[in-house]
Amino acid sequence: MPETYSAPRLLMNRLRQMMAAGGDAEERLAKVVKLVAGTMVADVCSIYLRTADNMLELVATEGLRAEAVTRTRLHPDEGLVGQIAVSAQPLAIQDAPRHPAFSYRPETGEDPYHAFLGVPILRNGRVTGVLTVQNRTERAYGEDEIETLQTIAMVLAEVLANLIETRKAAEADEQNGRPNTLGGRSLCGGIGIGRAVFHDPVVPAAKFFSSDSEGESERLSKALEQLRVSVDAMVAIDAGALMGEPREVLETYRLLAHDPAWTDRLLEGVQGGLTAEAAVDRARREHRARLESATDAYLRERLFDLEDLDNRLLRILGGTEKIKLEVNPEGPPPVIIARRLGPADLLEYRGSGLAGILIEEASVSSHAAIVARALEIPTLGNLPGLTTLVEEGDPIIVDAEEGQAHLRADDALKAAYADRIALRSERQAVYRAMRDLPAVSLDGQRIQLMVNAGLALDLDTVEDAGADGIGLFRTEFQFLVSETLPPLGEQISLYTEVLDKLGTKPVIFRTVDLGGDKMLPNLNQAREENPALGWRSIRFALDTRGLFRRQLRALVRAASGRELRVMFPMVTIPEEFFEAKALLMQELEWSTARGFVPPETLKVGAMLEAPSFAYCLTEIAGEADFVSVGTNDLMQFFFAADRMTPKVSERYDMVSRPAMRFLAEVAETCRKLDLPISICGEASGDPVQALCLAALGFHTLSMPAAQIGPVKKAIRSVHLARLGHALCTLLPTGHGDLRKEVLALFDDLGVDASLN
Ligand code: PEP
Ligand code: MG
Repeated sequence: MPETYSAPRLLMNRLRQMMAAGGDAEERLAKVVKLVAGTMVADVCSIYLRTADNMLELVATEGLRAEAVTRTRLHPDEGLVGQIAVSAQPLAIQDAPRHPAFSYRPETGEDPYHAFLGVPILRNGRVTGVLTVQNRTERAYGEDEIETLQTIAMVLAEVLANLIETRKAAEADEQNGRPNTLGGRSLCGGIGIGRAVFHDPVVPAAKFFSSDSEGESERLSKALEQLRVSVDAMVAIDAGALMGEPREVLETYRLLAHDPAWTDRLLEGVQGGLTAEAAVDRARREHRARLESATDAYLRERLFDLEDLDNRLLRILGGTEKIKLEVNPEGPPPVIIARRLGPADLLEYRGSGLAGILIEEASVSSHAAIVARALEIPTLGNLPGLTTLVEEGDPIIVDAEEGQAHLRADDALKAAYADRIALRSERQAVYRAMRDLPAVSLDGQRIQLMVNAGLALDLDTVEDAGADGIGLFRTEFQFLVSETLPPLGEQISLYTEVLDKLGTKPVIFRTVDLGGDKMLPNLNQAREENPALGWRSIRFALDTRGLFRRQLRALVRAASGRELRVMFPMVTIPEEFFEAKALLMQELEWSTARGFVPPETLKVGAMLEAPSFAYCLTEIAGEADFVSVGTNDLMQFFFAADRMTPKVSERYDMVSRPAMRFLAEVAETCRKLDLPISICGEASGDPVQALCLAALGFHTLSMPAAQIGPVKKAIRSVHLARLGHALCTLLPTGHGDLRKEVLALFDDLGVDASLN
């Protein structure tokens, strides 16, 4: 055993005894600081706790004045302690009082101490406190001392968690009196009321110390072996499909899994007296802490990979790959609180009756948002400070309609929300009653209402919502929720499942629409200045032929003997459509030549998402069987307003003269060319917009499943020909607010276009 580990080992044994003794958390902390100061030959050892009001409070000290305990409260970024809390990094200083961040608190009596070492106390990726030691003499703390203090901090995290719980119970009344509202970005609409549960994708270490280092080393080695086998298998599966940069990314991941430095660090931990779980957990905390402050993109990627490997290893050690959620069936449903959340993690919560999801960092949430929408769970993202402001168990209202999260809401607000939820369910009952009725206007025009889907989870919603089929199946979702590129067999089975489920109802498969905001981690696309205008959609597919042809093959094979409808995303010029269609035809020939039953019929379409394509309709009319307008992308290009930036995307209205004139022209051109046209994109799910589009001649609308009810109700209340006529007289001339004029028109015509 290395020399440096003998001191920690003794310390660990004593700590283990203290933990096992149980008792009051404050008393235990007092004993811990005494022990740590003694063992580390420090004059001072102190613990600061992050309180509910986000201050750093001195809760135990050996060496500073006893009366400072609970009296000394530092602002979240005050002094050296605050700096550690903010950076989540250790800090070692030879002469602390001379450091610019030093904050002098006379009540502590810390004047004589010069050397300072502090480490963050981390739990669930959050800094819950800071542990420090100080010495009178100026001295430099060694790496091994820093590590020892970090290991102690890890153990302390659990004791502090108990203290936080006890305090919370005592402060419950005060907490209730201190509600807080956070504004965020709605990622999936709806309202949910529940109780905060922190997302932690790993099994926490149940035991920290072990007296059987040999046994623990063996467990760890076995788990590492299992991890390497599964990572090797993952890389091997994609070996044929990936070349160049993506392949390097996977290889790097694999190399990290085999990295002896990582393994040595873990083994050192168990040889120093930690359990295998605690040794991995320590590494994970270090990686997370470094991630918090790393700005270099390359380093961040590696740290993400390492954190992911730590998590996997912890799950293997825990004997389960699945994330567990403790839910009290009697109590309020859980609201997941996460700093980051992967789509696969979210899928594992399925069936836990989640009331809502709050995600601090929206950027990584976009994939999770896709899954949240499929699961129809109210979700908010982009909530800075969320994980420090919420405590486990806090009552939470997720209002993803208004983009607000109410923490610790008072009874009046809770009652108001309970009323809103009741009203929503009354409306839902009305839509359910209309489920089997067609969307026919008062003058007998039949509008096809289709669902936008992307995961097998969405399939039931077609039937439940009373839709006519799937107007947009976003095939890239399967790629986004998988950890690796889905192999041919997996793609065939998903498409077969979709076709089986839909029976005679039509399904339009949109081929992979990757790039833009839909990045695949293992394809490692280069960062672009303007991803929405970059190497994405059909451009990306045509350039990564192996991937694209594999998908086309899967579609052809799945549709065996049935109708296959395929469309290509964001076609900008006719040549892109021709090239993609030629590849599809090649796959059809290839499969037929090998004896596979071809689809009974094949319909090939293009998405109109770039304005230029509106002026290519004549060229493609003989070749394409249909066109579908993707309003999400089309409107961002039309108004030059990024759809991901609410400040600009919400500035322009589709029910305005420029957009409506453009769409009216497109509808008219397609009518003349006898080219079937539909609309997909979120716009057709808004009843006001849906009515305008139907009135302009778009008789097939595809939308999120939850919007079918409100749109059907609106269609059934309108005389479409009259509305179309009135709209056409408003469009060419006039210059006022078209939406206002349209709403006035709806009033005159007695149309019901309420949102939900
Ligand atoms: C669109 O852009 O309108 C569309 C339907 O595609 P996506 O939202 O998947 O980009
Ligand atoms: Mg699009």
